[in-house]
Amino acid sequence: MTAPSVYRRRKKMRLLMAQGGKCFYCGRSINLLGATFDHIVPKCKGGTLRLSNACIACRKCNQAKGAMPQADYLKSIGRTYG
Ligand SMILES: [Zn+2]
Repeated sequence: MTAPSVYRRRKKMRLLMAQGGKCFYCGRSINLLGATFDHIVPKCKGGTLRLSNACIACRKCNQAKGAMPQADYLKSIGRTYG
């Protein structure tokens, strides 16, 4: 039996690879240890931990974003999609 934390780590790895090993927000290169899950729709707003609702952010960005919806945070740092 595989522990849930292993799945979590694999998921993180997959997302991190999909983002080219970079933080979704600031574009800084991060490793698995410095990577945190970020919810596109915050958990408190009904978001889930599905891959489609998650991205990888460095700790700094994750902390700065807090429970802010992703769109609002992107606006606050002057970024938009694409
Ligand atoms: Zn970042």
